[in-house]
Amino acid sequence: MKTYKGKSVYKGIAMGNVVVIKDRDLPVKRCRIEDVEAESARVDEAGKEAKLQLQKLYDKALKEVGETNAAIFEIHQMMLEDDDYLEAIQNMIQTEQVNAEYAVAVTGDNFSEMFANMEDDYMRARAADVKDISNRLVKILQGRKEADFLSMEPSILVADDISPSETVQMDKEKILAFVTVHGSTNSHTAILARMMNIPALVGVPMDLQEIHTGMVAVVDGFQGNVIFEPSKEICGQIQKKLEEEKEKAQLLQTLKGKETITLKGQKINLFANIANVSDVGYVLENDAEGIGLFRSEFLYLGRTSFPTEEEQFQAYKQVVQMLGGKKVIIRTLDIGADKQVDYFHLGQEDNPAMGYRAIRICLKEPEIFKTQLRALLRAAVFGNLSIMYPMITSSEEVQQIYKIVKEVQEELDLVQIPYKIPEQGIMIETPAAVMISDELAEIVDFFSIGTNDLTQYALAVDRQNEKLDDFYIPHHKAILKMIQMVVDNAHKCGKWAGICGELGADLELIETFVKMGVDELSVAPSMVLKVRKGIREVEG
Ligand code: PEP
Ligand code: MG
Repeated sequence: MKTYKGKSVYKGIAMGNVVVIKDRDLPVKRCRIEDVEAESARVDEAGKEAKLQLQKLYDKALKEVGETNAAIFEIHQMMLEDDDYLEAIQNMIQTEQVNAEYAVAVTGDNFSEMFANMEDDYMRARAADVKDISNRLVKILQGRKEADFLSMEPSILVADDISPSETVQMDKEKILAFVTVHGSTNSHTAILARMMNIPALVGVPMDLQEIHTGMVAVVDGFQGNVIFEPSKEICGQIQKKLEEEKEKAQLLQTLKGKETITLKGQKINLFANIANVSDVGYVLENDAEGIGLFRSEFLYLGRTSFPTEEEQFQAYKQVVQMLGGKKVIIRTLDIGADKQVDYFHLGQEDNPAMGYRAIRICLKEPEIFKTQLRALLRAAVFGNLSIMYPMITSSEEVQQIYKIVKEVQEELDLVQIPYKIPEQGIMIETPAAVMISDELAEIVDFFSIGTNDLTQYALAVDRQNEKLDDFYIPHHKAILKMIQMVVDNAHKCGKWAGICGELGADLELIETFVKMGVDELSVAPSMVLKVRKGIREVEG
């Protein structure tokens, strides 16, 4: 039995078998080899294995997400047969007498760079694909096993770290808990864990060499503990806690269908945050009154080319239709910082949180933005859709956005495609936006305060840096004062202001938010009923 303490990002209990994801990025070393024929044959064998893996992935994707989305795995299989690519690898092994891993990695980098520099959008998108297939080959050559999410039983995932794009690819039904060595409590992976209602611990000082797939573990998100190979006694205690949690969850169920009002009748709109179409299930299950933040960038993650206008239109339309007239606030893409996507070719930055991200990318690369806006305007016809723009720092940015929206409108008019101009609001997540919220309130329809980034920028604390978790204090007086200022400025102009950052679900602050006059709270679906309970107990 071995116990570790970590930082809890979602308070829940789990017990089950462990799946360890490790050695994802083993360095590739250059070695001189004598038997070039044997080395060439290793590449052929790895190619066969890679095609088998891709076929399995294709079959799974075909069933779950349809042919268009599954096609990428077919493209990867075809790329594995590309003569130029294969000859370049074999040639390198023969002429330089290097090991297969090295030849594949270098050829992958070379081809990826070549594609990235091409004019044609389609070819540019292949840069990420060639990197992907090369990584797959290297992994096979190094004898590393893929974490087999396909046939995995519901398990506790243990890893060094997990990225947001990995998280979106996982089958949520199969994850009982996340336990990672690294990661901050404010990262998007943590946010996803909360959304999925999954107990999660980060910053757990475990030695992954000592932990093996198949071990039993219990995760206690209340205590921040994970215990590997627990004693019978511990298992019994955890089983009891699991039952208590189930009971509490059942009690919360009685709040379904009840109004979110304080004892004196003040109404707060209680919405939920989502990252994907499939999360709508959690929203409905937890009786949220709408969606206050659809992090649309997740449609762009975990894939190798831009989602088309049609794909996005279908996704947004489906969400508004499923919400049947309830408000759905879709945030335009917030790529960058920890949400990296190869095919955007954003490049390395010294300070990505303060870098080329979110609305900045959209304003600099309006074609990417317009594709999303067209899809949003078209989907607005089918329900109660609002658009929200992230990382705003000035009124000029909002005016530039409106100009682009106007252009999109004119383009749609020209081809006579039905659309609607929805309500348009902004996220308040920079101190600059707070300070000019009086003038911003005059030109937008609503504010939604992103306390995750606002805390990061106001306190100068990188939200991704696990060493700074103790300094990341969303309760800080400065943040609370900023929230009050934003709410007051919105109300002066007859606009509404909500909170969609994680602080919105902080049960200790519910009364404070009610007193401040916050109109809306948008929280992880798993927190909706808990927050409703809190609001219904507030006197004011
Ligand atoms: C925020 O910054 O508070 C927010 C809701 O956006 P994200 O967490 O996606 O950056
Ligand atoms: Mg943000």
